[in-house]
Amino acid sequence: MEYCLNCGLQLRGRTDKKFCNDHCRSHHNNELNRNYNAALKEINSILKRNAGILKKLSENGVTKLSRAMLSAAGFDFNFFTHQAHGAKGEVYHYCYGYGYILVNDEELILTTFENE
Ligand SMILES: [Zn+2]
Repeated sequence: MEYCLNCGLQLRGRTDKKFCNDHCRSHHNNELNRNYNAALKEINSILKRNAGILKKLSENGVTKLSRAMLSAAGFDFNFFTHQAHGAKGEVYHYCYGYGYILVNDEELILTTFENE
């Protein structure tokens, strides 16, 4: 037995149907889009906050700091926009135009993204 993905009612007729009707189909798809857009918005706001923290520190002349300090400022290490690898194998993590390089488990160096 198949059930409507939107309202959960049992479906009649063709076995490949996923919804009772067009209303259920469009409601379900709108819901998916709403969730998708909400996730994008939330991730963007974390990335923007991260970039803003790095920008502010770098404008204040900070070049080297600890991971703990960055966390305390509200930075979320799980979110970044892209990575790059340096000549010595060091990994650059960027949040838009601002980034950092981990020197070791605790220390990091701030950097900015430059297009080449
Ligand atoms: Zn339905």
